[in-house]
Amino acid sequence: MKSAVHALTRDELQQHLAAWGEPAFRTDQLLAWLYQHHVTSWDAMTNLPRALRARLAETFDLRVPARVTTRGAADATTKFLWRLADGALIESVLIPANPALYGEPSDRHTLCVSTQVGCAYGCRFCASGLDGWKRNLTPDEIVNQVLAVERWHAARAARAATEPSPSPAPERLITNLVIMGMGEPLANYDHLLKALRLLNAPWGGGIGARKITISTSGLAPQVRRLADEPEQFRLAISLHGATDPVRSRLMPVNRRYPLRELLAACEYYRTRKGRMLTFEYILIAGVNDSLADARALARLARPLGAKVNLIPYNRVEGLPWERPAEAVCETFLAELERDGVKATLRREKGGDIEAACGQLRLQTLSTDAGPAP
Ligand code: SAH
Ligand code: SF4
Repeated sequence: MKSAVHALTRDELQQHLAAWGEPAFRTDQLLAWLYQHHVTSWDAMTNLPRALRARLAETFDLRVPARVTTRGAADATTKFLWRLADGALIESVLIPANPALYGEPSDRHTLCVSTQVGCAYGCRFCASGLDGWKRNLTPDEIVNQVLAVERWHAARAARAATEPSPSPAPERLITNLVIMGMGEPLANYDHLLKALRLLNAPWGGGIGARKITISTSGLAPQVRRLADEPEQFRLAISLHGATDPVRSRLMPVNRRYPLRELLAACEYYRTRKGRMLTFEYILIAGVNDSLADARALARLARPLGAKVNLIPYNRVEGLPWERPAEAVCETFLAELERDGVKATLRREKGGDIEAACGQLRLQTLSTDAGPAP
């Protein structure tokens, strides 16, 4: 099988080209076609000699995902559903101008990317795990979600322009990444890290490590491993329960890595990386939204200097959970703040497009004939 060209580092590509007797600048030309112009064919790489293009095509796979649906309006949250080479469906969500959600400076556009097809962790409230786990995404499948959205954006901008664009490469759209789409990123650790390094590299995606937030359901050993990596990625822990009984009811992973173990791994992350930690906390009516829950959460967050993002639950068809009334969410937030914890409450319209990751795929799987065989 040919290697995917989007899964290779500059050094790896350079080695191939050097073995063919090509000068180093050819590698940079190739990378510019991939990461700045987002081309989808070898023939589009017009400044590479024809023979080199043929050789590249023989050696590498230039596969990109097919866009199945795009939902959302201009300047609002946009959801993308992609079909991969084997027919699997995954989602990415583009979120514009998000003000400092994970502690980074206010940004322009954040892309939420998937790391697996389905999810094996089976959190009781989540659409992504309903259909089980299918497979890990490869590094190029993770990278290509970013490039495909950039390509979509550039095509839209070109259509909107009255004059042909004078600039050879369109301006980048995506400044921040959140690894919060379908799947448990730290269960696909090696592919995730390879992809994030390609997206972080100045010759690749050019997205700063501090602008990349990895969200995990709490795989404590992998949190420690991530803490030992050289990059300063931000970490979000999907907590959703501040005591073991509440958390285990919602998240089976808590039985494997209970709060004490998870929080010790978070403390290790903090000692290695500084204040780069966020707790995600979905508010579910009657399950984890009491004042006692808020106080217990504050007791966990404060010593770690963790910020708390409160997310009113998004209903999932077929699941019994509901979001609390707005006043309950506001009271929960006020209690955290009174206890000295930095917290935000996502106040969104519960519209179709805001639906949690995994839902668009689920709808398509059940209305479509499903993925191509
Ligand atoms: N597996 C990782 C990342 C993907 S889930 C993790 O669990 O962190 C991304 C976030 O969406 C998690 O915080 C998850 O708990 C949350 N989420 C899942 N279903 C949701 C729903 N129906 N409403 C609100 N948030 C949801
Ligand atoms: Fe998997 Fe995250 Fe959904 Fe849990 S919340 S089932 S870990 S995607």
